[in-house]
Amino acid sequence: MKTIGLIGGMSWESSVVYYQIINRKTQEMLGGSHSARSLMYSVDFGEIARLQHEENWAKLETIMIDAAKRLERGGADLIVICTNTMHMFADVMEGAVNIPLVHIGDAAGESIRQSGLNKVGLLGTKFTMEKDFLKKRLLDKFGIETIIPDESDRKAVHSVIYDELVKGDIRDGSRSAYLHIIEKLLKNGAEGILLGCTEIPLLITPGSTDAVLFDTTKIHAERAVEMALS
Ligand code: GLU
Repeated sequence: MKTIGLIGGMSWESSVVYYQIINRKTQEMLGGSHSARSLMYSVDFGEIARLQHEENWAKLETIMIDAAKRLERGGADLIVICTNTMHMFADVMEGAVNIPLVHIGDAAGESIRQSGLNKVGLLGTKFTMEKDFLKKRLLDKFGIETIIPDESDRKAVHSVIYDELVKGDIRDGSRSAYLHIIEKLLKNGAEGILLGCTEIPLLITPGSTDAVLFDTTKIHAERAVEMALS
């Protein structure tokens, strides 16, 4: 079994879920009382969120590369960045260490491909929805098109993540707002919804809607276990 190196704390509310999923999945695959070998380096999300909103990408890149190196030094065999947004730096991070990175976009792309869908609505931080790093990877590697909410809906989706979900604040009103935005994406041609922020599954679950959901936290964490056991 390989040792999974998790970069957590973005936010810790979803890192907890990663930890649960990697251990449950390992137990499921190996049976008995097996659990995953793992290390987590958890950052201070207050600092990360501030730098993101200042668009200080150079400093964030340094922090993310440092996190990957710490895990490698600690004995990790694989790197898992427990957030979609910071996958912005996935390629440079992977280049800075000698161990592979389990890319959230590849895990999601494979899962969407397997379901036979070609076009998904993407919900995430404004950085994930508006920048290219995830959408382009899905298109170039998997031929999957993404559509995103309009500007005011993107603002609403983004604020709920940073003002509520990363603090563990789960509100019915925000769930209704998200469901309304999901409906609009489906009307605009989305065949399924990519929950492209690791906290969104705390708010929107398969029980919340009939839409086909792709939960990046679950898909990514399970992919990491498959790689660790391969
Ligand atoms: N966890 C979130 C994501 O998956 C947002 C927090 C962050 O900016 O890293 O994108």
